[in-house]
Amino acid sequence: NEKEVGWNLDNSYARLPESFFTSTKPTPVTSPELIIFNDSLAKSLGLNVETLKSNEGVAVFAGNQIPKGSLPLAQAYGGHQFGHFNMLGDGRAVLLGEQITPENRMDIQLKGSGRTPYSRGGDGRATLGPMLREYIISEAMHALDIPTTRSLAVVKTGEAVIRETDLPGAVLTRVASSHLRVGTFQYAAHWGEKEDLSALADYTLDRHFPDIEAGENRYLSLLQQVIKRQASLIAKWQLVGFIHGVMNTDNMAISGETIDYGPCAFMNEYDPATVFSSIDREGRYAYGNQPPIAGWNLSRFAETLLPLLHEDQDQAVKIAQDEISKFKDFYYSNWFDGMRAKLGLFGEEKEDESLIEELLNVMQKYHADFTNTFRALTFGKMEDSVLVGKTEFAKWNEAWQARLNRQQESKESSHELMRSNNPGVIPRNHRVEEALKAAVDQEDYSVMERLLNVLSNPYDHTAEQEEYCAPPPDTNRPYQTFCGT
Ligand code: AMP
Ligand code: MG
Ligand code: MG
Repeated sequence: NEKEVGWNLDNSYARLPESFFTSTKPTPVTSPELIIFNDSLAKSLGLNVETLKSNEGVAVFAGNQIPKGSLPLAQAYGGHQFGHFNMLGDGRAVLLGEQITPENRMDIQLKGSGRTPYSRGGDGRATLGPMLREYIISEAMHALDIPTTRSLAVVKTGEAVIRETDLPGAVLTRVASSHLRVGTFQYAAHWGEKEDLSALADYTLDRHFPDIEAGENRYLSLLQQVIKRQASLIAKWQLVGFIHGVMNTDNMAISGETIDYGPCAFMNEYDPATVFSSIDREGRYAYGNQPPIAGWNLSRFAETLLPLLHEDQDQAVKIAQDEISKFKDFYYSNWFDGMRAKLGLFGEEKEDESLIEELLNVMQKYHADFTNTFRALTFGKMEDSVLVGKTEFAKWNEAWQARLNRQQESKESSHELMRSNNPGVIPRNHRVEEALKAAVDQEDYSVMERLLNVLSNPYDHTAEQEEYCAPPPDTNRPYQTFCGT
């Protein structure tokens, strides 16, 4: 009974010109089994938790049943993958529709739900490990206060998916404020007419930037706002050591949410060159490259808007370049604000930038763990840190203490600021892998559930978090993440 479940779906995306999508249904699976379900997210979407966990709800998350009001479709998009432009699209995902709540409109998308017209050579399927990985890391990101798509459910399909070996198949239900990507605009600019592009831009303005008023410069405002949201998002990634791993333009959401959790991972020892992804051999998407790559992606976005920015294309290019050139400053301003907060600093002093840089230099030199260093600074517990006894650190610490002493705010408020900006726990690779191994090999989901629980309140600094703080036993061993399939 739909009313009991609470589906309230609209399909605004399906009202775009039809070149933007293909109506297509998920491919049913043999024996769906619900592995994990996000009660609190379901509630916030106005959905009934108990009904959804029953066979009826699970049938929807498996793609075996289409909920009332859904017009399932696969979205078309293009994108630069490691710098090379390709036609892409939802090759293994289907958008069921947009769940309308009093507060918002959220895409409900099945990932791993079978082949679509955009599948190219792929099987349209996903495997259990990577879908649980996306569930864990996206929910951890949400708990870290970082804009992100979220995960409502993971269903095991009961079917094997052929990779290097046979692996258990799974479908993830992803919730996003939309799935509009830089690649969606690239698709419109490359293969569509100007009317398609303006239809997409108008749709995006309506959906994500309702405060931008109609008028001559609204497409310029769109560009400006997207640049600002990305500058804020990428700064947040850097401040917790998150490495996306595949910052292709199709994996950059216009909404400013983190999207597409493949070979992503959190950095342990501070090093800008850190890269985990096995497919990123040249380090294009290394930790320290994320800000410039975001700028590069935004340039590709700006290019798609040129026809809408000015009649005269030379003028349009000037306008776009002007805006793109501001990204770096926006990014640094967000990042410096965040770093000041991590160090308990109020206000701004000219020397803050060098103070911050010096700490990072010392951390890099002595292979200090990124998260744990800030955690130790927060609680004044440096005794276990590799930085203890190092003259550079002692010197830095003196300068930091002097800076803290110069500010009016109390030591308590400074400590509070640090507590709420330095997570006690992050989803470290070895803990995530341990949880996935138990789930996939043993059908033991308790390890994952405990991990999810610990990751759900990273700024509360609870006692349970202690045992999850340790970096991997052998931090020198290069950890590799594989493109989540
Ligand atoms: P990603 O690297 O995750 O951003 O994916 C790039 C493109 O490959 C997207 O168009 C995906 O839909 C598509 N894709 C990834 N895996 C599969 C698969 N198993 N079957 C079909 N398409 C896929
Ligand atoms: Mg993608
Ligand atoms: Mg992916």
